Amino acid sequence: MRSFFNRQNKFQPRTEDAAVSADQQVPDDMWVKCPSCGDLLYSRELRQNARVCPKCSHHFRLRARERIFLLADDGTFREWDAELRPEDPLNFVDGSGPYTRKVASSSKKSREPEALITGRVSLGGNEVGLAVCDFDFMGASMGSVFGEKFVRATERCLALRIPLVTISASGGARMHEGMFSLMQMAKTVAALGRMRRAGLPHVALLTDPCYGGVTASYATVADIILAEPGAMIGFAGPRVIEQITKQKLPEGFQTAEFFLDHGMVDGIVPRPELRGTIVTLLNHYARAAKRINPTTTRPGDDIVVPALDKLATLTDSPIGDDVLIGTEAAAAPSGERTT
Ligand SMILES: [Zn+2]
Repeated sequence: MRSFFNRQNKFQPRTEDAAVSADQQVPDDMWVKCPSCGDLLYSRELRQNARVCPKCSHHFRLRARERIFLLADDGTFREWDAELRPEDPLNFVDGSGPYTRKVASSSKKSREPEALITGRVSLGGNEVGLAVCDFDFMGASMGSVFGEKFVRATERCLALRIPLVTISASGGARMHEGMFSLMQMAKTVAALGRMRRAGLPHVALLTDPCYGGVTASYATVADIILAEPGAMIGFAGPRVIEQITKQKLPEGFQTAEFFLDHGMVDGIVPRPELRGTIVTLLNHYARAAKRINPTTTRPGDDIVVPALDKLATLTDSPIGDDVLIGTEAAAAPSGERTT
């Protein structure tokens, strides 16, 4: 077992940089070669097109804040829990060094303190909670702070009675935290259960790549599951499945289109239509919510919405504790940040 953790040639999540090999990168970021059609694209034109190839519609990966910028009404994003940082509960060390060092280098590279960014935002005039993965931070693996931020976002959605929109791209659970990371699967899904019982919707968008514990937990228990064209989605990767089952996998296996054909996602939405589609869904919910008194919960609900004056402060909450955090009124000074 020890040798497993000391392996030097560990699996590394495929990043956009890796996907676009060295010969496809042109100096100064002036031009980018599309990995799908091979065309040379002017990077500014690509950015203006939401990083979708204008020739073949290949969807390049986006950073979390790029996604928020593309989706949100201008200037409405208020970040939650930006000060939370990953801990190292196991003092974990593997062949590439201590987990803490890995977190520090990932944070420096991605300029994010954790792989999940949460906050409140307006989408077409609809207030929603938002939880967006940043794959550049350790492959957006789900550790205990990732899970805690997710749960706090759902608690705020409950307190504010607003829907939750999640955008997922992840390599799965963060093995450096062992069982602590696996527990986040149950913790996030339990939090969504409370939202479901309160009648608050969860719209999930699966983007490339979405794997492991994220696919197997909160990302696929949404009320509406959307995916971007061509996104790779699954639990274990296709190579691992082929090795275990010793069967040839069908063409297109684990693509968003394959998932749509097999009833695992509700729709595939090209990026330029994404904002409009999500706003339409939220408008439908808002109209329905008005018809059925939104302040009344149904029998059997076990929602706990803490009083504002009894809230735990964000900084005092031990990471990983199941702390109920209240509305932005309590969080705004320290827990909510405008970007
Ligand atoms: Zn292309």
